[in-house]
Amino acid sequence: MATSLPRWAWSQTLRQRHLFPLGVASGAPSADGFVLWTRLLGGPVPGIASAAHEGAPLTGPVTVQWQVADDEAFTRIVQSGQATAEPALGHSVHVEVTGLRPDRWYFYRFMHGDAVTPVARTRTVPAADALVARMRLAYASCQRWEQGHYAGYRHMAKDNPDLVLFLGDYIYEYAMPARPPATPLARTHTLRLAENLQDYRDRYALYKSDPHLQAMHRACPWVVSWDDHEVQNDYAGLFGTGSEASFLQRRQGGYQAFYENMPLRASALVSGLQGLGSNEAVRVHSRTSYGRLATFHMMDTRQFRDLEACRVPGERAGGAISNQTCPARADPKRTLLGTVQERWLDEGLAQDAAGERTRWSVLAQQTIFSQRNYKAAPEESFNPNTWDGYPAARQRVLDAMQAKAPRNAVFLGGDIHQNYVCQVHADFARPDSPVIASEFCGTSLSSASGVAQSTTDAIRAKNPHILLARSDQRGYVIADVTPTEWTTSLRVLDDVSKEASGVSTLARFVVNDRRPGTEQVG
Ligand code: FE
Ligand code: CA
Repeated sequence: MATSLPRWAWSQTLRQRHLFPLGVASGAPSADGFVLWTRLLGGPVPGIASAAHEGAPLTGPVTVQWQVADDEAFTRIVQSGQATAEPALGHSVHVEVTGLRPDRWYFYRFMHGDAVTPVARTRTVPAADALVARMRLAYASCQRWEQGHYAGYRHMAKDNPDLVLFLGDYIYEYAMPARPPATPLARTHTLRLAENLQDYRDRYALYKSDPHLQAMHRACPWVVSWDDHEVQNDYAGLFGTGSEASFLQRRQGGYQAFYENMPLRASALVSGLQGLGSNEAVRVHSRTSYGRLATFHMMDTRQFRDLEACRVPGERAGGAISNQTCPARADPKRTLLGTVQERWLDEGLAQDAAGERTRWSVLAQQTIFSQRNYKAAPEESFNPNTWDGYPAARQRVLDAMQAKAPRNAVFLGGDIHQNYVCQVHADFARPDSPVIASEFCGTSLSSASGVAQSTTDAIRAKNPHILLARSDQRGYVIADVTPTEWTTSLRVLDDVSKEASGVSTLARFVVNDRRPGTEQVG
């Protein structure tokens, strides 16, 4: 009988039961495997009054067991093993499973003593030469915890995608605002502004404690990138606000915590933990081939970007610019991806195009790719933080797309907390240039937008290639992909401040095979 257990045994049991309050995740899927992730936490979830338990913070390494099975009941276990959660990596666990069969769902769980994680599901991608009949993609970005509930993930899980792409701003580094904001907060925490490794670890723990986010991680593999708030608002490459030394320390802490908390391969730490201060510290850009149906080129538009044109190093990002107010904007040397990643993308587009290997080339990146002129042509005014601040770099991507000519190209984005659907022209400076791709920039999962819908309407009116622009809704995006059609559904919440919020489809757009550009169908 439980009540007869000695007190130390109670504590031990409770401690083990609470080792996995941050859930599990899987990611980086290949045709024969994936990464399984968890992170142990001994004490309470930082920043909130969590369910009280007697667990103490973990000190030394902890060994956990993992299992992968064909069935949810784990009667047919196909692989198992053990892994060590090391204090040096925040007691995170990254298991790289290989040797599995392509295009199949698997179930997995972690265990330690009598503590077992909930059963989770993940999958391998189709074999390299398989042109499968369909797949369902979901993508999201910008999930500021205090500004909304994660009802979006509850609905995304019901939509049952095969793969999630996370496009950046998984956490936000801020403390609570000193004064109540215009839009009331959905929830509050007590964490300070993140400045060092432990601060970022605590922030991920807070976010990861959300049950809907955990459930979506349990539902399918994720391929993740980051944006600025995983470190500091509007940072660019090696430049942030404040002193250079303090920013670089922050960047190093934020980068390590990102690796610790994401289902990434160990090879993402390109120079190991010792190399986290170097120019390429974490390899976040990645390529995922879904057989011959689609290739997901996941980009990193943060780590290697030049400072915004006409921004003073160490100071905050400024307002809108044009080539007249800021001639440096037009400098052809300026880059958003960095030269190594630009070449990597060119090579990937060439691979997709060779023998029409890939039906859909998907360029997944952080922010809006298409031009948004805030003024009526011929006057010009642009956001310096998006691709509009790096027009020569954008043109290099467009030129590569025309030169390599993959069969179909679709851009995905986030960051601006607004839904934007655009026709992507070969040259935005020439509105009569051909449409060569489509763009579906998704709104934020929970982060507030701060842009009035009337402002967004005015921008759309001045930019005929923008088919839809909405700032007033939060949500996520579903894409149904077949060999002949790409269908985007913009999924929007009724009320992000409510955990029980409903969801609806704002609009559906289709792209047809070999017909660049998109049209609204619902
Ligand atoms: Fe954001
Ligand atoms: Ca951002």
